[in-house]
Amino acid sequence: MKNIYGETLKELEQYFIDKNEGKFKATQVFEWLYKKRVKTFQDMKNVSLKTINDLTNDFSIEPLEIITKKTDIDVSKYLFKLSDNNKIEAVLMNHDYGNSLCISTQVGCNMGCHFCESGRLKKVRNLEASEMVRQILAVEEDLNIRISHIVLMGIGEPFDNYDNVISFVDIVNTPKGIDIGSRHITISTCGLIPKIEEFMNYDKQVNLAISLHAPNNKIRNSIMKINKAYPLEKLIPTVKRYVDKTKRRVTFEYIMLKGINDSVDNAIELSKLLKDINCYVNLIPYNETSHIEYKKSSKDQILKFYDTLKKNGINVTIRREFGSKVKAACGQLRSNYEEAQNEV
Ligand code: SAH
Repeated sequence: MKNIYGETLKELEQYFIDKNEGKFKATQVFEWLYKKRVKTFQDMKNVSLKTINDLTNDFSIEPLEIITKKTDIDVSKYLFKLSDNNKIEAVLMNHDYGNSLCISTQVGCNMGCHFCESGRLKKVRNLEASEMVRQILAVEEDLNIRISHIVLMGIGEPFDNYDNVISFVDIVNTPKGIDIGSRHITISTCGLIPKIEEFMNYDKQVNLAISLHAPNNKIRNSIMKINKAYPLEKLIPTVKRYVDKTKRRVTFEYIMLKGINDSVDNAIELSKLLKDINCYVNLIPYNETSHIEYKKSSKDQILKFYDTLKKNGINVTIRREFGSKVKAACGQLRSNYEEAQNEV
């Protein structure tokens, strides 16, 4: 049965039209779900008994189950169980500008980036839109907070699950729904060019982040499998076209891996690669995991890299580190949990 949290307002309107009922009912249902946060259809008080029965017959309203939660001073990491027993993660970060939730888009990931924990567990399936929406609802309820920003940077490749991701954005962006502004939503991709092309024609002002992580093909090929299919000489012009077409600034994420991509020469090469693009670079201190041999660059090296980009006219920030203390970075909650289960 479909879960109600996966329906866009338009889809729900169509549902009521098909039942020969007023489409305003969809707005009422949205308000019960997202403004008043009811847990059952029976709690929707101004809705007719027939509608409650229809909804009960046609949709489930199950929330996501929280299996574990780890909390640090500025971060809470969640492991959720889906109805088919698969596990996914979400991470809540407290910024000075608000609460940002990093959500998963797939169970596992097939992109095969060598440094990434999530990809050690291959893709099992795409998440449905409802499973993305319910990550937000579960965290908001658990912490009794409102989330202001969403980043699609958890487990999975959002552009390998394009249609569900777009439905998700639609649902959370709807004013009658969770009402998170499109400029507060960021989709991160390792660079699936056909989907970047498609995304150029998307009409909402959602932010795009590209996981670049290297200034040339040699390094990028050695750490990201996707670069064989979509190398830099194809990716960079596509991103330029995206920026030209949408007039939106793009973010390049760049993980700082010790001795791999973090030299001053690498920074100079990166500046040349990006010099004509309206972008900024987000330097990410690598989150080490026990399973993978890469090491994070020293603070000093990150600063040198940062200064070199700045000097060469590139907008750059260094990402604040969250939650490395709770040892649950980027996909580790799930993989550690799965391993513990296998050992039993
Ligand atoms: N598949 C998408 C989104 C999920 S990954 C993408 O590739 O963009 C989100 C970001 O986290 C990516 O930039 C990814 O490269 C980065 N990442 C993965 N493992 C990491 C780690 N151990 N430390 C820091 N960043 C990591």
